[in-house]
Amino acid sequence: MIAFEWANASSVDEAVKLLKPANPAADPDDQPHPMGGGQDLLTTMKEYLVRPSRVVNLKTIKGLDEIKADGKGGLKLGATVILTDLGDHADVKAKYPGLAEAVHSIATPQIRNVGPDQYVACHFPLTPGEAIEFR
Ligand SMILES: Cc1cc2nc3c(=O)[nH]c(=O)nc-3n(C[C@H](O)[C@H](O)[C@H](O)COP(=O)(O)OP(=O)(O)OC[C@H]3O[C@@H](n4cnc5c(N)ncnc54)[C@H](O)[C@@H]3O)c2cc1C
Repeated sequence: MIAFEWANASSVDEAVKLLKPANPAADPDDQPHPMGGGQDLLTTMKEYLVRPSRVVNLKTIKGLDEIKADGKGGLKLGATVILTDLGDHADVKAKYPGLAEAVHSIATPQIRNVGPDQYVACHFPLTPGEAIEFR
């Protein structure tokens, strides 16, 4: 693994700034990456598939691990909601039973207890996501 800078983001705005350096690398795989659980990211870094100059930890952002009503009849899932909490959430089970069921089929409880929901929406994305909305 190559040397990289570690940054604990304290807000979404700060995370976005940390993910957009003044002089971005030409290859997106060399640019700063956000980290939720880090299971996928650190594995791909060890294999040099991605070589971020900076890893931005999103788990230090308060409130990003919450599932809330979006006021339009749907739900807003924070980017660091872990898969276990997503699959066990009463409103997710009631409104989106297929999603709750699908989440419980991913990997193992150990992986689901660490892995964030962002993975459900995108794998190896190039832009940071704050939340996913389901309606
Ligand atoms: C042993 C093992 C078995 C697995 N089995 C399955 C399986 O059977 N089925 C399945 O579907 N998945 C499986 N997975 C994948 C697992 O579900 C994901 O790794 C996990 O949910 C995502 O969490 P993570 O800790 O890997 O995320 P991270 O490593 O933190 O992030 C994954 C990627 O998303 C990016 N990212 C993180 N947060 C954001 C954000 N907010 N916005 C944009 N990009 C972001 C990161 O930069 C990275 O590229 C498995 C993983 C492991 C390690």
